[in-house]
Amino acid sequence: EPRLSAALQRIAPSQTTAMTDRATELRAQGRDIISLSVGEPDFDTPAHVVEAMKAALDAGQTRYTPVGGTAAMKRAAALHFERDLGIDTDPSHVTISAGGKQAIFHALMATIDPGDEVVIPAPWWVSYPEIVRFAGGTVVPLPTRPENGFRFSAAELEAVITPRTRWLLMNSPANPTGAVFTAEDLTAIAEVLDRHPQVLVMSDDIYAPLTYTGAPHATLAALRPDLADRVLTVSGVSKSHAMTGLRIGVATGPAWLIRAMEKLQSHSSGNPCSISQAGAVAAFEGPQDFLADWRETFRRRRELVVARINAIPGLSTPVPQGAFYCFIDASPLIGDKVADDGALALHLLEHGVAVVAASAFGGTHCVSEQTGDLTGFRISFAASEAQLTEAMDRIEKAVAAL
Ligand code: PLP
Repeated sequence: EPRLSAALQRIAPSQTTAMTDRATELRAQGRDIISLSVGEPDFDTPAHVVEAMKAALDAGQTRYTPVGGTAAMKRAAALHFERDLGIDTDPSHVTISAGGKQAIFHALMATIDPGDEVVIPAPWWVSYPEIVRFAGGTVVPLPTRPENGFRFSAAELEAVITPRTRWLLMNSPANPTGAVFTAEDLTAIAEVLDRHPQVLVMSDDIYAPLTYTGAPHATLAALRPDLADRVLTVSGVSKSHAMTGLRIGVATGPAWLIRAMEKLQSHSSGNPCSISQAGAVAAFEGPQDFLADWRETFRRRRELVVARINAIPGLSTPVPQGAFYCFIDASPLIGDKVADDGALALHLLEHGVAVVAASAFGGTHCVSEQTGDLTGFRISFAASEAQLTEAMDRIEKAVAAL
């Protein structure tokens, strides 16, 4: 066996990608599989974004740009942070990367030393703990419960902070749970942070435009500008503008951290794709009114899926308040009718629906008041109502067949 680095050996491949690849493979063999495993909107990229990218190509914008993004792109990102998230910033405190994922990767790689602890609310987005482990940090799970809408309280946060805590990773609206933190939640969390000045906060707001609460999006850097010197807010166009493949993420935070991220980026990928940057400028500066329609479409799909899931014996889910996922508790079935959540996901795949097992998201750290262990699976409802209805029929049959 060729030797791999110790850092690489500490991490596991992305299980969401693995499940999506498996579904694609089965489909190529002629199987009828509905994929609810992938985290991307099923809408077309807005036409004005596509036009802006064509124009950039025709104008010959195929050269290197500044490592952290063009001046126009940084201005557009600053506009987005101010207009959509309420964060007071300027282009010198903004950086652009190849997807929100790369911004998170670079920020953590630039700041974590061995022994540094990173608090991650569980269930979590699959990449957070892997990036932390790759950087040499220690993952400190902060379990949440469905009864609380998968939000943690200030007291629960306080209990896991130590002098070694380097970061708290926040994600609202959250993947995989749809948890949305309110302004009151965040104000209480900020008071804990006031007592622990060694803690940096990553606020991953990539799903910000997709909330169904009716309340405006709440985020730490907007509510508490005095914490701006230790909050990195990450956003992007992947989810909000259906631009997942174009790989543009944006971040705003303290100048020292933005500089550090760009230093690392100058040696990893260099600048994000020039054509994609032109598209993202159009995305942020162009009309945003289509978002209201997308949100309404997602809200209808959410109603459909939540009602169907909660009517299936053995399955339950709280109503996700944002993003486009349901985190489904199947613990009454597990250990009884099926060995574990991985086996359940494979059983559902056999019945024609691709989902991702809860264990991929750190679900094993979580407990449900009703059932004890929380285990089950995540579905994405970024699919048509017809597909979702068919998928729910298949899940119902699959569970009955256990
Ligand atoms: N953060 C969360 C919570 C996500 O779910 C995702 C994508 O799945 C990302 C960040 C990364 O998005 P991007 O495609 O812009 O890298």
